[in-house]
Amino acid sequence: MKFGGTSMAGTERIRRVANLVRAQAAAGNQVAVVVSAMAGETDRLINFCREANALYDPAEFDVVVSSGEQVTSGLLALTLQSLGTKARSWLGWQLPVRTIEAHSKARIETIDAPGLIEALEDGEIAVIPGFQGVSEEGRITTMGRGGSDTSAVGIAAAINADRCDIYTDVDGVYTTDPRIVAKARKLKAVTYEEMLELASVGAKVLQTRSVGLAMKAGVRIQVLSSFGDDDAASADELPGTLIVSDMEMDQLVENGDMERQLVTGIAHDKNEAKIILTRVPDKPGAVAHIFEPLADASINVDMIIQNVGRDKGETDVTFTVPQADLARAQAMLEDRLEDIGFNRIITDSHIAKISVVGVGMKSHAGVASTMFRALSDRGINIQAISTSEIKVSVLIDEDETELAVRVLHTAYGLDAVEEAV
Ligand code: ADP
Ligand code: ASP
Ligand code: MG
Repeated sequence: MKFGGTSMAGTERIRRVANLVRAQAAAGNQVAVVVSAMAGETDRLINFCREANALYDPAEFDVVVSSGEQVTSGLLALTLQSLGTKARSWLGWQLPVRTIEAHSKARIETIDAPGLIEALEDGEIAVIPGFQGVSEEGRITTMGRGGSDTSAVGIAAAINADRCDIYTDVDGVYTTDPRIVAKARKLKAVTYEEMLELASVGAKVLQTRSVGLAMKAGVRIQVLSSFGDDDAASADELPGTLIVSDMEMDQLVENGDMERQLVTGIAHDKNEAKIILTRVPDKPGAVAHIFEPLADASINVDMIIQNVGRDKGETDVTFTVPQADLARAQAMLEDRLEDIGFNRIITDSHIAKISVVGVGMKSHAGVASTMFRALSDRGINIQAISTSEIKVSVLIDEDETELAVRVLHTAYGLDAVEEAV
């Protein structure tokens, strides 16, 4: 069981969580629980680091930001004990959850679970702070924003859990962010592949890496709400959304439990920025000169467009980078103006990426053209396009994000049918 920040926000909420955990244990299950910091706490800790030293040392940064989860894991263990349940916390270094050294974006390498499994077999509930691990040097690491999802999947794999239930503030994965589109529909199941794509293009309900790990390790995930009434369905009745293999999905469709849609979901991402380099020499090696230094600095480039060469053997190159890396990328490119040979650099962070995702696209044409038509009918201009086998993304003006998501949701027939009263 994994509980996100809103589920852990305050002792009152933690008591609700403790009741859910106790019910699972009372049903005869061995339970490991992974918790996030209280909602808002990680942001608060990050701000302290920035105030203390704008050029913070990533190792010390991780010491600070990982502490939110230490607090909630201890509090949940205490609350469980107060309900008469055997429970203890296991910090990242105590298990240990071994990660690579990359501070603030560490990846799990191994989890040594024997001690944990022994405690579980002994009837003790294990409470594990998400987000944190320990590097080979013995220093605390963290796994990137939303990383508790990945901790939970990692632990589930390490103890060979039957299921990894991810409790959050919505009752499942929807066709799009239900906080933006009221007509979003809850999905009974989503394939790993689709969820991986949805997460990577902005559906923050699960951290992208957690889905990749689940797919690799074959961990079954259910996303569900921790905010149900007292008579809400138990997790074992699968009230949430299951993240499943293609095979399991085929079975659900065959049994009539699930309809196969062309498009499964729509996501948006406002955290990218666009860079245009004008009048780049149109010759072999020019593009390599632009992207090699960005790659060396671990700056992820997403969409790339190289226009057809103009006369005089020049071309414009447009691409996107995470907004957080824009200043660094810009400075780096300006430093190499002579090498690359461009004329001007134009940047824009007032953009959003809108993506439609669905495995149905593999076998059906026309998904992209439906998108372009629906957007153009509303006068929304497309600045860039990229596609993968199961996804089409476009870049638009940030102000049009909500409108675009709604329009596309309707265009692909995803709107929930209102029930007659
Ligand atoms: P937690 O703190 O529990 O980890 P998050 O805030 O990380 O929760 O993720 C849950 C949020 O994800 C929801 O409140 C919702 O606004 C957002 N979200 C975005 N896209 C989707 C989607 N397709 N389905 C469900 N929730 C979504
Ligand atoms: N507390 C961390 C964050 O806010 C990790 C998590 O909640 O998953 O990003
Ligand atoms: Mg989250």
